[in-house]
Amino acid sequence: HAKERGRNTYQFFSSDMTAKALQRLTMENDLRQALHRGEFTLYFQPQVNVMTGEVEGAEALLRWEHPEKGMVLPARFIQIAEETGLIIPIGEWVLAQACAQCKAWQEAGYRRLRVSVNLSATQFLRHVELIRTVTRTLHEVRLDPDQLELEITESLLIQNTEEHVATLQKLGKLGTPISVDDFGTGYSSLSYLKRLPIDVLKIDRSFVRDLEADPDDAAIVRAIIALAHSLKLRVVAEGVETRGQLEVLRHLECDQYQGYLFSRPLPAAEFEARFLRPISLPFSADPG
Ligand code: C2E
Ligand code: MG
Ligand code: MG
Ligand code: MG
Repeated sequence: HAKERGRNTYQFFSSDMTAKALQRLTMENDLRQALHRGEFTLYFQPQVNVMTGEVEGAEALLRWEHPEKGMVLPARFIQIAEETGLIIPIGEWVLAQACAQCKAWQEAGYRRLRVSVNLSATQFLRHVELIRTVTRTLHEVRLDPDQLELEITESLLIQNTEEHVATLQKLGKLGTPISVDDFGTGYSSLSYLKRLPIDVLKIDRSFVRDLEADPDDAAIVRAIIALAHSLKLRVVAEGVETRGQLEVLRHLECDQYQGYLFSRPLPAAEFEARFLRPISLPFSADPG
């Protein structure tokens, strides 16, 4: 009996794994074609000033319009892209596209906006290539370096090597702000904050979710904001979904927020129509 059951179990897992492996392989092949076929697109989520309600920036978020599967979210393909190295050309595309969009909005006469781009671990680790790519892209698009912001996840900084320090310093020297994404989830030592040229902390959504009900989360958020401000860093709250959460963040003097409360990530045209405002012209004639 045991032997039979064992064999069935084995077969069950075996075919399941085959199906998974096949699915993955298909995904990998599709991903290889996606760039050439122009299936990627960027969505933009507003980054809003907590005090004034003004849209000051936009986070570029990658979307894949798969011919059969429809819209595929990064959670389903970023890891495969990382493992196959495809994240390098995809990441270059994201950077170029985000910078070009930011420039286009500026040239269309809208108020200055900063666009932030997520960097993957692989991109960050290939630092020579990364710095060259960022430098070239900013130059080609003729975008001010401080209109771009680069997001790295806190988990990347766990191995707080001298190499990471050097990479961040070089990126910092370009004049492009660096933000630490998903802050509070990476379990890294806080000592890196004083050693690295970091400009922004993004409080992870998991601390924002129960901000109103859970005093521990409120305490953590309060501490992160105090820490950020004493180090002269800007602080952004992620995943704000309710008025109540925003009230607490306002009370704690958080600088910016992102979240469904204000807007989901949107296609560029929709973002433009809803949130971009022309630069207000000075009064031409002053009768006084
Ligand atoms: P992230 O950088 O932390 O981005 C925030 C994620 O939270 C986005 O998911 C966004 O749509 C979602 N979000 C925003 N507001 C809310 C909210 O109020 N509630 C909830 N529940 N979620 C909210 P998305 O677009 O699916 O991206 C997931 C992750 O994929 C990103 O997390 C980022 O790590 C990665 N990613 C996205 N685009 C890129 C990219 O171009 N390159 C790389 N390397 N990674 C990317
Ligand atoms: Mg991000
Ligand atoms: Mg995040
Ligand atoms: Mg995240």
